[in-house]
Amino acid sequence: MRFYSTNNQSHFVGFQEALFQGLAPDGGLYLPESLPEIWDKIALGTFSYPELAYEILHPFVQKEISKSALIDICEKAFSFDVPIINIKDHNFLLELFHGPTCAFKDFAARFMSRTMEYFLQFEQKELTVLVATSGDTGSAVASGFHNVAGIHVVILYPKGRVSPTQENQLTSLGGNITALEIAGSFDDCQLMVKKAFQDKDLNESINLSSANSINIARLLPQSIYYFWAHKHISKNEPIIISVPSGNFGNLTGGLFAKKMGLPVEKFIASTNKNDVVPEYLKSGQFQPRPSVHTLSNAMDVGDPSNLSRIQKLYKHDLTSLRNDIAGYAYSDDETINSISKTFSENQTILDPHTAIGYAGLLDYKKEFKSTAAGVVLSTAHPAKFIETVEPAIGEKIPIPNRLQSFMGRKTQKIEMANRMSDVKEFLLTA
Ligand SMILES: *Cc1c(COP(=O)(O)O)cnc(C)c1O
Repeated sequence: MRFYSTNNQSHFVGFQEALFQGLAPDGGLYLPESLPEIWDKIALGTFSYPELAYEILHPFVQKEISKSALIDICEKAFSFDVPIINIKDHNFLLELFHGPTCAFKDFAARFMSRTMEYFLQFEQKELTVLVATSGDTGSAVASGFHNVAGIHVVILYPKGRVSPTQENQLTSLGGNITALEIAGSFDDCQLMVKKAFQDKDLNESINLSSANSINIARLLPQSIYYFWAHKHISKNEPIIISVPSGNFGNLTGGLFAKKMGLPVEKFIASTNKNDVVPEYLKSGQFQPRPSVHTLSNAMDVGDPSNLSRIQKLYKHDLTSLRNDIAGYAYSDDETINSISKTFSENQTILDPHTAIGYAGLLDYKKEFKSTAAGVVLSTAHPAKFIETVEPAIGEKIPIPNRLQSFMGRKTQKIEMANRMSDVKEFLLTA
């Protein structure tokens, strides 16, 4: 499969190049040349999760990763449960938080680290993976890349803006993982990562790659679980899928799945008050703005980078985009209400991101009197956001062992001013 840049539809690269480049040289984002129709085959077969992953991923990496290597990558990357829980009536949760860091970003990070490791074994190269995080991406990348030979990971995170659990996950692994605590915001961290890619000295002396969702290798594995959910919920009826969204990488994975034949009545783009995409669906105007801090901090994005991919997939046709995606946005109070109500009525505990997704699903069904089965992508374990969830439900919640094991561990971080020259100096001398 070849991939093209959203800025230039006639320049193509293979999977390996798209994976290591992250951003295309013209500043665009990579998209697959085609999305093969595979639903019929998947609907008929019986697959374990790694088998399903193989079926969906192999058209994209064909000729570049051998069949046996891809099977091995899928088995190792997707080695945890992906349960589907019935909340009530025809409403389901797709629990994507059973990986090592308790958020859905494990799927993509574990796939990326293993594909990068696969390609690097043929070259005598060292690689530095640079990533900016508001919390969950950094922990998933740290865990996914820990001890991978030939790769150093440098994580930039904003001082005082990540939760204590997230900070422990970022800073306690050591080895090939280095955490830089930047005296700035997430946007500052993101900007420094972008600057690093444009810096000539840096790129001449080290091999840089990115693990943010500008990388197409993050999105492909995020298509798989949409098929998985559908197979468990409905035979062949279109379903409704609500996606708690920030940078819109997860939703883009779902749109890929639809283009591959998955029957979907509607995707719900559920956001917090950083609602530039629901606003865009309403008005037709995309107006990015600085993000505001909310309880669902992994969705605090004011200029979602994957919107340009979504627009390209729909050829900038707002009508067809609106046919497939509806937008709903919620305040922090509404988020807490959704957590409390779902707990008291259905004994189900939602994290703040998933709570927004569930509110979006219910509001859509009500507004359009839809009776289709609905599923919410449950993007994080509620214990990751214990400060919000426990007061909302009025009870203590159990903390999974894999989260607890991070607490109290020795942490290592390097504090750094919000200055590109300092980060550059660090990268050049580390
Ligand atoms: C990253 C994240 C999201 C948002 O996903 P996008 O792909 O950026 O839209 C939602 N929930 C949680 C828990 C996350 O970590």
